[in-house]
Amino acid sequence: MAQDFDVWIRGATLYDGTGAEPRLAYVALRGDRIAAVAPSSQSRANVTLDAAGLALAPGFIDVHTHDDFALLARPEMDFKVLGGVTTCVVGNCGMGAAPWRQAMGFARAVHPDARLPEWEGYRGYAERLEADPPAVNAAFLIGHGTVRAAAMGGEKRAPDRRELDAMRALVREGLEAGAVGLSTGLIYEPGRHATTDEIVELASELRGSGALYATHMRDEGMGLLDSVRETLEIGRRAGIPVQISHHKAAGERAWGLVRESLALIERAQAQGQDVHADQYPYTAGSTVLEAVARDGALDGRGGARGAIAPERVVVASAPGHVEWEGLTIAELAQRLGLGAQAAAEKVIADAPGVTVVTHMISEDDVRTVMRHPSTMIGSDGIPTLPGKPHPRLWGTFARVLGRYARELGLFSLAEAVHRMTGLPARKFGLADRGVIREGAFADLVLFDPRGIIDVGTYEDPNHPPAGIHAVFVNGTRVARHGAHTGARPGRVIRRGG
Ligand SMILES: [Zn+2]
Repeated sequence: MAQDFDVWIRGATLYDGTGAEPRLAYVALRGDRIAAVAPSSQSRANVTLDAAGLALAPGFIDVHTHDDFALLARPEMDFKVLGGVTTCVVGNCGMGAAPWRQAMGFARAVHPDARLPEWEGYRGYAERLEADPPAVNAAFLIGHGTVRAAAMGGEKRAPDRRELDAMRALVREGLEAGAVGLSTGLIYEPGRHATTDEIVELASELRGSGALYATHMRDEGMGLLDSVRETLEIGRRAGIPVQISHHKAAGERAWGLVRESLALIERAQAQGQDVHADQYPYTAGSTVLEAVARDGALDGRGGARGAIAPERVVVASAPGHVEWEGLTIAELAQRLGLGAQAAAEKVIADAPGVTVVTHMISEDDVRTVMRHPSTMIGSDGIPTLPGKPHPRLWGTFARVLGRYARELGLFSLAEAVHRMTGLPARKFGLADRGVIREGAFADLVLFDPRGIIDVGTYEDPNHPPAGIHAVFVNGTRVARHGAHTGARPGRVIRRGG
């Protein structure tokens, strides 16, 4: 006998992604879409899930990931789907997936053992994903650093006319392939050698397209406010929306500055500028050691990040040197009989691409930024598996829901869900995603609102969060009680489509 629907999720409390008050509902799926949302029903379905007492939300949209290559190297994407994530925005911090040759620098650091195929431009990258789909949906940003490296190598100067034209052409290729924006990493090589004008020139290619400018700003320490001003200027002059990545004040001397940076964002919004930020819910960051150790920062000589105590920098992944993982730079310096800066330089030389976790953010600031209604959630996870990646890779969304919404009461569960679903879908132009309504894509997460919580720690990070019962991507179940089903129904989400 023919069934009305493929899947019925019965009696869950619905958080629909708009921020509206939760309500009891029956949600039916047919194919890749939500076919019905009703208060009750006698309909029949092939599969019925009794979800009384559980919360049903749109699948989480991770707006800040570095999963460009994990999507191909580890397409099950267990570290995302088991945490309720159904869409990843890749290409952040200026590090994009094309051109291929330049992209491979970052790819090999994160996935030293993976055999990645080649592709031609962003179009080729998207087609690769479609040919061998991951479990999650992916939207991509064009990485300015990758583009710059392709056009002019590691030159520490402004581009000449020809180089700028080459960069423009690469940005246009990405846009035509469906990129949702352009990202910069103005603290990293080679992005840090770009002037404001260079970024404005390239970002202007996006005007009128709906694509946005996302940035890891030049300085997140004492220079935070100047960085926000530069970011707002770029958005204004280019005439495009702006997304400030992983908003924070890094380093003890800068703590508290986020009140003023949020005020700058508010003022810009009041003047009509489309600007938001995203955040990971932890007091430690994570990045490549090369970016931390630059300019003698570990010897207290400063640099864009200010001085960083070597005791606060922990090796997360060290290709070829697992024995270093979990050790601080201070401990390594002692073992190697070197100063902190010299030890870091030796580690970088022996384990190229080595990543670290840096304890540098205040809990007060984490809460201040999260309370702000314009803050979205993005993990900034670096998928260095195996290794000891920052636990945000697995736990970000569960931690926001369990710790910051439920335990600390920073905001309602409906608001927390909105910041990780409906709000980012609108901002990044992900059509028919991030909301539960008839006709939308069936990206869904079913969780226990009383039990959801992150599990991984800095010492032992590779664990899925607790309390997530089911995850659907495009109508197909990818997670069942904390286990992956093996399904890989993810799609490439192109701008506006
Ligand atoms: Zn970043």
